[in-house]
Amino acid sequence: MTEYDAVVVGSGPNGLAAAVTLGRAGRSVLVIEGSDRIGGGCRTEELTLPGFLHDSCSSVHPLAAASPCLRELPLRGHGLDWVFPPAACAHPLDGGRAALLEHSIGETAESLGGADGRAYRRLMEPAVRAWPRIDRDLLGPLPLLPKSPIALARFGLRGLRSARGLAESRFEGEPARALLAGLAAHTVLPLETAATAAITLVLGLLGHRVGWPFPRGGARRITDALASYLGELGGRIETGRWVASLDELPRARAVLLDVTPRQLLSIAGDRLPRTYRKRLERYRYGPGVFKLDLALDGPIPWRAPECSRAATVHVGGTLAEIAEAEAAVWRGEHPERPFVLLAQTSLFDAGRAPAGKQTVWAYCHVPHGSTLDRTAAIEGQIERFAPGFRDRVLARSARTTADLEALNPNLVGGDLAGGVTDLAQLWARPVARWVPYATPVRGLYLCSSSTPPGGGVHGMCGYQAARAVLRRELRG
Ligand SMILES: Cc1cc2nc3c(=O)[nH]c(=O)nc-3n(C[C@H](O)[C@H](O)[C@H](O)COP(=O)(O)OP(=O)(O)OC[C@H]3O[C@@H](n4cnc5c(N)ncnc54)[C@H](O)[C@@H]3O)c2cc1C
Repeated sequence: MTEYDAVVVGSGPNGLAAAVTLGRAGRSVLVIEGSDRIGGGCRTEELTLPGFLHDSCSSVHPLAAASPCLRELPLRGHGLDWVFPPAACAHPLDGGRAALLEHSIGETAESLGGADGRAYRRLMEPAVRAWPRIDRDLLGPLPLLPKSPIALARFGLRGLRSARGLAESRFEGEPARALLAGLAAHTVLPLETAATAAITLVLGLLGHRVGWPFPRGGARRITDALASYLGELGGRIETGRWVASLDELPRARAVLLDVTPRQLLSIAGDRLPRTYRKRLERYRYGPGVFKLDLALDGPIPWRAPECSRAATVHVGGTLAEIAEAEAAVWRGEHPERPFVLLAQTSLFDAGRAPAGKQTVWAYCHVPHGSTLDRTAAIEGQIERFAPGFRDRVLARSARTTADLEALNPNLVGGDLAGGVTDLAQLWARPVARWVPYATPVRGLYLCSSSTPPGGGVHGMCGYQAARAVLRRELRG
């Protein structure tokens, strides 16, 4: 006798999306979470001072807002309220200038000016138009029968090149090139890597299609809403129970693990065939992140005031600087001037900090497993574009890759994407298989960001894994 149709281990956005997808199909589900709090990469905590709410991991969520899985769910009724800042993201440059990813393609193009403005329209307009026909194909396993093969092929032709190649071939001026470089740096890959243009384009087009919103009250609202909806569907969640072996789990027709290949090997290694195990052992993890959260006694004094129109700010200077910083991390170095991903969500969500005060969320990439404190390097970069910023810092919370991995074992060596997302590991994730979510063990599935489409809060890995379970294990 089985106790549940499915047991999900891990309550990150993918684990909960998987559980909800199964619950909506009328299946009984238990979610087991090791930490005493649910949410994985969606947690919001008072990390610095009382009354200052910081996102421990993810903070800005264009992928969640655009996700074909999450947007179908009644999450608003479970407390999820998106905040849309006036611009998607800002990118300050020396001399008080800035490039902005506006919601309107026209306004973005106008701010880039002249030939670069026209080139921007030519690049983005077809991608933005194509998105509804290609989103499900790009956010899932390798599409064998794409919904719109021509639109996908057109997108693929542009996306297969490197982000640097795309930026340098299309644009003359620094603002446009830097804007693309900032988007590309989210890939955690050298900007010269093949196919980094694809994620660059997706992040850019989402700025125009949905904006780069974040949940009012913090990232945890996404997973809190998923958990609340799961409860309504009859699903159960247990926290504070780390799973070390499959033998500890209640009997179920399917088990879905929201973990990365390294933990899959340790939880289920003795049951996996040798060849599959060997392939999992070859799975590659990438660089880590150093995370810095700050409490400020006022907003960041950007030299380019338009940087205050966006919650997300890319702090790294020119394309050449960002490319060098990201390449250095891949060489195992800590660049003097790292690319800093910064969010100033409290500017648009007053409940995150006491009156008149602000929070800052920031991270930079560091070599895998780095234990170096990068506080000074991150603050130096912000100060470069916002003189006087340091004087506003009231308190800090810094986390190295080891601190992050202690918080959540999925952050192996600080890798926030559940493994490198280059062309070789984009769809063949964790290994090349017809259904990448299924392991060779009957009823055992992986549903984390180590499966297609990879890192980010979108729930699509969990959704796709649950659909595979419904098709293969729970039919009838
Ligand atoms: C610093 C940082 C910043 C980020 N910023 C963004 C951002 O702004 N926007 C964005 O879209 N994405 C961002 N991400 C990435 C995003 O958080 C992840 O891609 C996403 O959370 C992956 O979801 P998941 O469900 O696959 O795994 P996770 O969110 O990692 O959840 C896995 C869960 O499983 C639990 N677990 C693991 N092992 C076990 C076990 N053995 N037993 C029981 N429970 C277990 C963990 O405790 C965790 O709760 C960021 C990540 C980090 C670390």
